[in-house]
Amino acid sequence: MPISEFDLIQRYFTHPSQRDDVLLGVGDDAALLQVQPGMALALSVDMLVAGRHFPEDTPAHAIGYKALAVNLSDMAAMGAAPAWVSLALSLPEADEGFVSAFAEGFMGLAREHGVALVGGDTVRGPLCISVQIQGLLPAGQALRRHGARPGDGIFVSGNPGDAAAGLAVVQGRLDCRDDDADYLRRRLNYPTPRVALGLALRGVASAAIDISDGLAADLGHILTASGCGALLQLDALPRSAPLQAALPEQQQAWQMALHGGDDYELCFTVPERDCARIEQAEWPCPLHRIGTIVADPGLQLHDRHGRCVELDRHGFDHFAND
Ligand code: ADP
Ligand code: MG
Repeated sequence: MPISEFDLIQRYFTHPSQRDDVLLGVGDDAALLQVQPGMALALSVDMLVAGRHFPEDTPAHAIGYKALAVNLSDMAAMGAAPAWVSLALSLPEADEGFVSAFAEGFMGLAREHGVALVGGDTVRGPLCISVQIQGLLPAGQALRRHGARPGDGIFVSGNPGDAAAGLAVVQGRLDCRDDDADYLRRRLNYPTPRVALGLALRGVASAAIDISDGLAADLGHILTASGCGALLQLDALPRSAPLQAALPEQQQAWQMALHGGDDYELCFTVPERDCARIEQAEWPCPLHRIGTIVADPGLQLHDRHGRCVELDRHGFDHFAND
């Protein structure tokens, strides 16, 4: 039996909030949220369209998880503590199986991060999900894109490239062992938003961004905003064991890391004097220094001998999205 919009919302998207700054959540014409004095509100919205931002046959649980994860990642990149989300859902039909799995993925991650779902909208239409997130941070402490300066070290969390390899696996363009395929597919469908790292980088990073469109493109946004360039050591790019096994040819792995999207790792810069300390400190997730900010605009890639490398983008086009 088809379920009504009201029942769907009631059953899957109405939960008592664990946060006492939610004065009013789902159920009225608007949510009411308490912002403490001295705090700035970080706000971001993302839209995911089936077939465009995820393959049509992605499991509903993963779609729900990822719809929230990409928004949490934006909060991480700003150094904000995620607090509240709203969810606009366009569904082809009131398919309860889909919605319950979607809600499990979404709400499970929300609980993990202490985030309250405080409202949304549910309509009938092509499968499309829009999540708006709000986070909190002390005014003036946001991580921005414009603060990188020549000499700053460039760092990245996790292993960029895994998600793009996972997409290639899903689309049947990359063959590898089953356990490696599982790992890579998981990195595509269940990215880890680096929220704790973002909070720890307040007052430490000179600039930060999350990697949604590939390391080269997103680092490029820091470079443009900061008016400088970067030199990357290709050998320093971290590679997961499954990626190495799937793409033993180093150049292809580099291309995945630089030009593949959907990793939701953080890329950030740190003033030169602090780099040694950063490399030795404990962080909530693995970090690697991959290069240095330079005055000359553009992105230069160096091999281990310090020689400039031109990566053939066609090598990557083979794996491209569209
Ligand atoms: P309105 O007509 O005022 O837009 P709706 O009937 O669309 O109200 O929604 C009723 C309540 O349910 C509102 O509080 C709205 O925020 C909430 N809501 C609707 N869809 C969702 C959803 N997908 N997730 C969370 N809350 C939702
Ligand atoms: Mg509505």
